Amino acid sequence: MKDDTNKDITRKAAETELPDQSYSFWRATTELPSFPPLREELDVEIAVVGAGITGITAAYLLAKEGKQVALFDAGKVLDGTTGYTTAKVTSQHGLIYDHLRKHVDDQSAILYYEAAEEAKRFMQQMVEDNQIDCDWQEETAYVYVESDDKEFKNLEQEMEAYRELGIPGEWVESLPIPLRVKGAIALPGQARFHPLQYLKFLLMEFRVMGGQVYENTMIEEVEDGDRPRLLIQDQEFGVTCDKVVSGSHYPVTDQNGFYFARLQPQRSYTLAIRAETPFEGGMYISADEPKHSLRSATFDGQQYVIVGGKGHRTGQEEETTMHYADLETFSGMLLGIKDIPYRWSAQDLYSLDRMPCIGYVTSDKPNILVGTAYAKWGMTSGTLAAIMMTDMIMGRENRYTDLFSPSRKMPLLERIKTAVSHNATVAKELVTGKLDFNRRKADDLEPDQGAIIWHHGKRTGAYRDPDGKLHVVDTTCTHMGCEVGWNEAERSWDCPCHGGRFSYTGEVLEGPPTEPLKQIKS
Ligand SMILES: Cc1cc2nc3c(=O)[nH]c(=O)nc-3n(C[C@H](O)[C@H](O)[C@H](O)COP(=O)(O)OP(=O)(O)OC[C@H]3O[C@@H](n4cnc5c(N)ncnc54)[C@H](O)[C@@H]3O)c2cc1C
Repeated sequence: MKDDTNKDITRKAAETELPDQSYSFWRATTELPSFPPLREELDVEIAVVGAGITGITAAYLLAKEGKQVALFDAGKVLDGTTGYTTAKVTSQHGLIYDHLRKHVDDQSAILYYEAAEEAKRFMQQMVEDNQIDCDWQEETAYVYVESDDKEFKNLEQEMEAYRELGIPGEWVESLPIPLRVKGAIALPGQARFHPLQYLKFLLMEFRVMGGQVYENTMIEEVEDGDRPRLLIQDQEFGVTCDKVVSGSHYPVTDQNGFYFARLQPQRSYTLAIRAETPFEGGMYISADEPKHSLRSATFDGQQYVIVGGKGHRTGQEEETTMHYADLETFSGMLLGIKDIPYRWSAQDLYSLDRMPCIGYVTSDKPNILVGTAYAKWGMTSGTLAAIMMTDMIMGRENRYTDLFSPSRKMPLLERIKTAVSHNATVAKELVTGKLDFNRRKADDLEPDQGAIIWHHGKRTGAYRDPDGKLHVVDTTCTHMGCEVGWNEAERSWDCPCHGGRFSYTGEVLEGPPTEPLKQIKS
């Protein structure tokens, strides 16, 4: 759903410093096929919504089981979060195991680890069996802290969790790269890869098996029933099927599952740099602030370093360009920068207990399955969701069903604490978001500047493009009525409540909303 027309601008700007426009390394280095929109009524066994890692892997697996499958995307394939990830394939998901031991139990923590390992093994097997040319390389993953404060204690406790659970991590006090750390946990046997080259293979195999793919087909709602029905935006026709698999990142349908109160969107920022000094291997993530993530990638014989971090809740920061600048400073000091060919940002969803939600959308709706809330670990969790949903549809047992069930009971304290803070944000955005802004006017806006302004007596969102043309939109999110905020680096309107995003002219860039922002006459 994002716009690739900025390719040339990005390449030119890269010869100097930070690229002017957001463009992902993965998308820039993968040629993907195009598919038509759905043009008529369709009856199919399985309808998969969303062509990211969840949807494509599920479509592939279900087609392999002999199912008749159609895959739909509101925009282009692999242009959601999967196209903008950092693509570490690891079961080291930050500091998760101590958290799970404390807030759930030991048995769940070890099951979580085994699930991530199973997904990683599946991906590795796919690559090996099919000789997929996707820069797959085994790496050691490191989670580290630079300072002595609270996070150091948390890291020590995470190490203790590794020991207790039998996770083969090792405590180290230095890293292969020149970052001074107080401590780190090294987990060998993890991997990095090129996610789009891997998923392109699965997508093409899916097509060979007779799978249907439709792009630019926005599913607006799903009507539950013995045979669910997908309603398509602006069309009279629809899709009837036996089972729906939602791989749409934010679930395509809520069905009273209250996902809007349970999922939180977090954005973060990424650079692909060519460094002055060779990168010595490994994949890194900090446990303390500021958050940083590092890994390398090879394309056309050249080494790139993918540097990420600086996460924050979607829609709550306007001056987002500074996050790229911070990453640039960090990479420059660490490795030296020859150039920065690509920069991009993306968001992922978090559940209240930090575990993915995989399974029936609600316990009484066995014909609609969802995979969501991967907390920035969707390479393994998205793959796992596809495996689990395939098992559930095929009537097979899966040992992780209860752990990741969207209907699971979450630890009470955690649930209350997080839900209160999340819903306070939603309520605040619904109520005060409408009042709380600077009374700027259209005339105050420079070219290539956007802001909330006071326009014809109303709070509106405005962006003045580089040619001086003003684009004005109603800032009420069409999903649930929260107020969107300006995102300077991506030139988009982002919603802090559920992560909906819109272009400066109001078109939907990212769900859950399906309707554009209302344009206002300038
Ligand atoms: C900056 C960043 C770095 C990350 N790094 C890592 C990492 O190193 N390792 C890791 O494991 N994970 C990482 N993740 C997480 C991982 O990238 C995501 O969890 C994963 O890509 C999500 O995949 P998905 O298939 O669920 O969603 P997506 O890739 O977003 O795909 C969803 C698709 O659904 C479509 N869609 C949405 N609504 C509709 C609708 N109504 N109708 C039709 N189609 C619809 C969208 O257009 C989109 O193409 C990172 C995430 C971020 C944000």
